[in-house]
Amino acid sequence: MFRKFVRCAFSCSLIVCFLCSCGLNQSEQTAKLNKYTTSYIDYFDTVCTIVGYEESQEEFDKVASKTEALLSEYNKLYDIYHSYDGINNIRTINQNAGISAVKVDKKIIDLIDFSATLYELTGGTVNIAMGSVLSIWHDYRNRYVDDEKNAKLPEMETLREANLHTDFSKIIINREESTVYLSDAQMMLDVGAVAKGYATEEIAKILIADGVTNYALNFGGNIRTIGPKGDGSDWSAAVTNPDKTSEETSIMKVRLNNQAFVTSGSYERYYTVNGVRYHHIIDPKTLMPNNTFSAVSILAKDSGLADVLSTALFNLTYEQGKEIISKLDGVEALWVTDKYDIFYSDGFADIILK
Ligand code: ADP
Ligand code: MG
Repeated sequence: MFRKFVRCAFSCSLIVCFLCSCGLNQSEQTAKLNKYTTSYIDYFDTVCTIVGYEESQEEFDKVASKTEALLSEYNKLYDIYHSYDGINNIRTINQNAGISAVKVDKKIIDLIDFSATLYELTGGTVNIAMGSVLSIWHDYRNRYVDDEKNAKLPEMETLREANLHTDFSKIIINREESTVYLSDAQMMLDVGAVAKGYATEEIAKILIADGVTNYALNFGGNIRTIGPKGDGSDWSAAVTNPDKTSEETSIMKVRLNNQAFVTSGSYERYYTVNGVRYHHIIDPKTLMPNNTFSAVSILAKDSGLADVLSTALFNLTYEQGKEIISKLDGVEALWVTDKYDIFYSDGFADIILK
């Protein structure tokens, strides 16, 4: 409970930081457009904020309520922890592993297809079929997050055994029937590295098709800007300082226009064993959290791509990460090491606000 409050409070502080950093306030006016904001706390276990410029509150409310309905729908479909009446979601697929194929909404098949492409692109570094391993870490983190005295690490043998059930090719999709079947009974999907960013992008696409512009979505740190601000200028977003002992809450500001910006950090979800922190991004090579970086941010046009890559680059060396993003159009990265040294790709320099 306390942990949840801390996480929520922290997320809220991120959002406030984001909004302030945009230089916006409720009364700010442009020639014709006013700035409006709203936030929701019921989706994706995080805070989802919408900022938009419109001529009236009514116009903004229309966009916000459509966005909220979409958030609710995607959240239910991609949930791995809860079931919902009348809905087959990722949890339903997991519960039927080795038992039967599950009829699902196309949005689930699209998410798995997207994850398959990114699995290839990242050389298996982000693998949604790793749920069996990730759930062990998740359970240990939950059990010991407020009990450092007794905190333990999972046994490597248990992790290795679970890792025998992470074969992506055992996700069997039947597109005609719109079903998903996990042919390994001990396999589980965990879409935590992908779902939020992917849903953010899908929602942004729907809003764009409706003609929406001058909006910024920030769904739990997955920032997606749609057009510029109301006055035609770029949005700006603060990059959180992973060094929580510092008084500086951010390390820099970046400018965004029609782009996504996503950060994965080791400073928010972790537990401590014998004074060492173990965070929530697991390296499939070692089955452990990798402590090379404390944060990785990705700039991309697509929020889903940015979300997956921010997780992937956490598990790769700086050189390997740089190699991957150099092949992708419009993708730039910022790495903050465990010692808080900062590195970024060449094009990233262009979006840093001096
Ligand atoms: P956040 O959800 O905090 O924004 P990320 O986008 O980096 O962070 O995703 C982390 C989540 O992704 C973890 O909580 C876990 O559910 C999942 N995950 C961790 N490591 C991997 C991995 N190597 N491959 C696939 N999913 C992972
Ligand atoms: Mg991610």
